[in-house]
Amino acid sequence: MSGKKEPHFEQVALIGLGLIGSSLGHAMRRRGLAREIVGFARSEATRTRALELGFVDRVEENAGAATDGADLVILCTPVGIVGAVAQEIAPHLAKGTILTDVGSVKASLVEDVSPHVPEGVHFIPGHPISGTEKSGPDAGFAELFDGRWCILTPIDGSDPEAVVKLSQFWEACGSKVDVMEAKHHDLVLAITSHLPHLIAYNIVGTADDLETVTKSEVIKYSAGGFRDSTRLAASDPTMWRDVCLNNRDAILEMFGRFSEDLAAMQRAIRWGDGDALFNLFTRTRDIRRSIIDAGQDSAAPNFGRDLPKDGEA
Ligand code: NAP
Repeated sequence: MSGKKEPHFEQVALIGLGLIGSSLGHAMRRRGLAREIVGFARSEATRTRALELGFVDRVEENAGAATDGADLVILCTPVGIVGAVAQEIAPHLAKGTILTDVGSVKASLVEDVSPHVPEGVHFIPGHPISGTEKSGPDAGFAELFDGRWCILTPIDGSDPEAVVKLSQFWEACGSKVDVMEAKHHDLVLAITSHLPHLIAYNIVGTADDLETVTKSEVIKYSAGGFRDSTRLAASDPTMWRDVCLNNRDAILEMFGRFSEDLAAMQRAIRWGDGDALFNLFTRTRDIRRSIIDAGQDSAAPNFGRDLPKDGEA
């Protein structure tokens, strides 16, 4: 990644100005990747905030107007509505424009968007594997994509030059880029992201339902594992509802395997099979080491010590 600032695109339209849209705006600003950034979000409040925060040059009151004249359009709304958004902006997409997205699910999104893509427009779906549990325009920051993977899932007939151009754009935003098929993406993400989030939602939901332990005790004595789960379980409900509804098959496949493994663990605990437990915990520890070696997390211990000082939010 060179430090040189030069625009990759003349006019970039960000449709959706939440965590990912705003982070993209900041990341483009950092490296001067767009001559003009035009934004659209559903609410007036978000559009106004985006202008105040300065990660867009102007906003428009509808997605079509934001798309007019853009040579790169990035759909950054929840997955469940990208099809409708694509239909709305279709008449505004000029030939040669690259149309991409950041949705956490790919195969169903390709099905929803493809029918609306005019001839001569390069539709290349994408997914930055970087995020936080926060939402909205204030949540974004330029460094979100630094050192993280962005997966592109070009469709049949995608123009190779456009794929290269989009890859270079993501690299300039700080990402490393991989290309794979949409279905494969959905299977991989089902186990690396979707299942952990859903298990976290379930753990926190179970704790919330407990009657023998009071809610105040759950909060007061929350240990690392539960605290980490609550962070995941604080993720945006709309986004995760859409992920579940749009990656149903892959998620159910992973839940099936997970349930079998859970049953095996229950049996090991019931029968006091310490070796089975020890072997599993040793194997899983190696995975953690591999993630750190791959630079995808830090080995620094974190016992929730970055607690806010008194008076801080
Ligand atoms: P977010 O912070 O909730 O922002 C969503 C944006 O979409 C908001 O600007 C919202 O406008 C707009 N929007 C919602 N419904 C709309 C509609 N019907 N019409 C037009 N605009 C609408 O969400 P996000 O976290 O940035 O996620 C956006 C996409 O990125 C999702 O597809 C998600 O799967 C993907 N993604 C998320 C993460 C993550 O960690 N969060 C990571 C990678 C990829 P208002 O503000 O006006 O409501």
